[in-house]
Amino acid sequence: MAVLVIADHDGSAVRDTTHKTVTAALALGGDVDVLVVGQGAKAAADSAARIAGVRKVLLAESGELGHTLAEAVTATVVGLADGYDAVLAPASMDGKNYMPRIAAKLDVAPISDIVEVVSADTFVRPIYAGNALETIQTSDAKKVITVRPTAFAPAAEGGSAPVETVSGTDAGKASFVGEEMVKSDRPELGAAKIVVSGGRALGSAEEFHAVMDPLADKLGAAVGASRAAVDAGYAPNDYQVGQTGKVVAPALYIAIGISGAIQHLAGMKDSKVIVAINKDADAPIFQVADYGIVGDYKTVVPELMNALG
Ligand code: FAD
Repeated sequence: MAVLVIADHDGSAVRDTTHKTVTAALALGGDVDVLVVGQGAKAAADSAARIAGVRKVLLAESGELGHTLAEAVTATVVGLADGYDAVLAPASMDGKNYMPRIAAKLDVAPISDIVEVVSADTFVRPIYAGNALETIQTSDAKKVITVRPTAFAPAAEGGSAPVETVSGTDAGKASFVGEEMVKSDRPELGAAKIVVSGGRALGSAEEFHAVMDPLADKLGAAVGASRAAVDAGYAPNDYQVGQTGKVVAPALYIAIGISGAIQHLAGMKDSKVIVAINKDADAPIFQVADYGIVGDYKTVVPELMNALG
C-alpha cells in the first residue's frame, strides 16, 4: 500500500497540519510519500523530508501551483495517482478546494474530514455539525481523503527522506489573476494555542476590534468570530469559527458575546479549556464552557485586561 499526502506549507516550511495528516496516513499502513506543490518551495520540501516515517518527498513546481490553483494541483496529483492507493490532504481551505476535484477526476467518492482511521478502508467522520460521528467503509480502490488536523497528533521530526522533483502540470483554462491577503502578526487561527472569539454582542466593527485586538495581543492569541459577527461585517470572513468556518482546538478558547449555537460549537468544542463571557446565564455556550462568566463584556473584558497586567 502506498499513500500520498499533499502538504500544506507556507513556501518555506510545511505547516503542522501536514505532520498531523502524515500521522493519519501512517495509520492506513504502507509507505507514505509527501507531495509539495508550489513555486520556489524547495525549503518546504526539505522540511517535509524531516518528518519521521516519510518514504520520499515529491516536489512539483510551477507558477500556478505556487498559487495552489485547484486545476493545477488536481492535474499534478491525477498524474501521480497511478502509484498510490490513497491520497490524503488536510481539510484546510486549499484541501477542501482541490480534493473533491481530484476525487471526481479519479471517479471515486471523496471521504471528508476524517477524525479517526479505523483501518485502511474504514474511517470515522463527524456529521450533523459534529453532533454525531459516523464510521464509513469504502470499497473504492483509490481513496481520496481530507483529514481534520485537530483530531490527530503531529508526526515527529527526525526523518531524512529523499526529495525528488516531479513535473507540475499547468491549470489548463484557469489562470491566476490576483489575491488580497490579510496581513497579521498574530498567530494563524487554525494553529493558535489561544483563540479569543467575538460574537454579535460586539455590535460594530469598531467595537469588535477595540475589544478583541488588545485582548488578543495581550494573550498572544488569534482572533476568531461567530458567523453572526462576520455576516454583520464586524469581523473579516476568515475569522469565522464553526461548521462553515474554521475548526479550531486551541489550549484556550475565550468566547465573548457568543450564544453557542451548534454550528459555532462544531468549530470549537474540542478546545482544551473554554471560557465564555455572556450576559445571559442560560446561553448554550455555558454548557460546553469550563469557566463561565455571566456578565456584560464591557465590564468583564476590561477587568480581564487589568488582571492580565
Ligand atoms: P447570537 O446568537 O445573537 O448571540 C449573541 C450573544 O451575545 C447572546 O448569547 C447574548 O446573550 C450575548 N450578549 C449580548 N450582549 C452582551 C454583552 N453586552 N455582554 C455579554 N454578552 C452579551 N455560526 C458560527 O458561529 N459559525 C459557523 O460556521 C456557522 N455556520 C452555520 C451554518 C449554517 C448552515 C447555519 C444555518 C448557521 C450557521 N451559523 C454559524 C450561525 C449560527 O446558527 C448562529 O446564528 C451564530 O453562531 C450566532 O452568532 P452569535 O453567537 O455571535 O450571535
